[in-house]
Amino acid sequence: MSVPLLQVVNLAVTFRQEGVETTPVRSVSLTVHAGERVAVVGESGCGKSLTALALTRLSPTDRARVSGRVLFEGTDTLTLGTRALTRVRGQGIAYVFQDPTASLNPVMRVSDQIAECLPDLRRADRLAAAIDLLTKTGLPDPARAARAYPCELSGGQQQRVMLAMALAARPKLLVSDEPTTALDVTTQRHVLNLIDDLTDAYNMAVLLITHNLGLVAGRMERVYVMYAGQVVESGAVTDVLARPRHPYTRGLLSAVPLLDAPRNTPLQDIPGTVPSPDAWPAGCAFAPRCTDDEPRCHTDQPPETLADGRMHRCWPRPQTGQQKTPTALCGSRGRSPSIALPQP
Ligand code: SF4
Repeated sequence: MSVPLLQVVNLAVTFRQEGVETTPVRSVSLTVHAGERVAVVGESGCGKSLTALALTRLSPTDRARVSGRVLFEGTDTLTLGTRALTRVRGQGIAYVFQDPTASLNPVMRVSDQIAECLPDLRRADRLAAAIDLLTKTGLPDPARAARAYPCELSGGQQQRVMLAMALAARPKLLVSDEPTTALDVTTQRHVLNLIDDLTDAYNMAVLLITHNLGLVAGRMERVYVMYAGQVVESGAVTDVLARPRHPYTRGLLSAVPLLDAPRNTPLQDIPGTVPSPDAWPAGCAFAPRCTDDEPRCHTDQPPETLADGRMHRCWPRPQTGQQKTPTALCGSRGRSPSIALPQP
């Protein structure tokens, strides 16, 4: 296979506060190839967003220590100087975050905010370029939207503005961090379809950060499942969702509500919560919530098992558990879902 566009090797993010060190991201490795669609899935608090921010050193520099390697087109972003890193941000890797209201500047017109992403254009050409980008995102009346302040736009329209800003420098990788969490379900689907269409048109790779497996099925090619700051399973989406090997992945799949489930079928969840980074369990971090645990799980870290192009972090054992197939989860490119997508 070709050299990856992005290769993350043993990434760790450590915070030191009041003399106490915590490592919410520990030894994450992942790859994204040019034009590929890759998802990182896990519950809140698993380190997904911190991993995404660390790719371009956006984690709070005064408190966070980032180690490992983040090779983007072969160059380690963790060692780049400020000027080169600024080029990677935007032109190489662009972000769409989950809350557009918090990401946009409330006292700047939309066109001025998009123009900041177009520094090479003459000032006189920037408004037209901003309107052109907003048109590509499907915003109704893009000329009016360009002159508006963010508060004059709906949440879905604001997220389209964020997409226009992300696309302005024609990045090679779009990192979408829970891009639809703050939107209603109908708008979620419009925005996700728009991301699909635009990344196709611009031939961009996508790294989607989400807790929603329904978004992964049918849209993404490979998936990394994160738990407690580690990747616990990875592989092709079709394989991982059809035959999950890690109990946590099976738990996430069981928690997805199905539209065709019999009436009054109780919703399933994974008992307990993600442990805090300052109290990672000694052995497998999932052991306190795992129904397959055994004594060694509580004392020893399970090994990474690599087989058939997949990885999972668990003691070798016969596979059990009922799985939902990707077809049951979602139709082609996620546009004909048979699941009830969770409300944001
Ligand atoms: S190592 Fe043990 S506790 Fe951890 S996921 Fe595997 S079976 Fe469960």
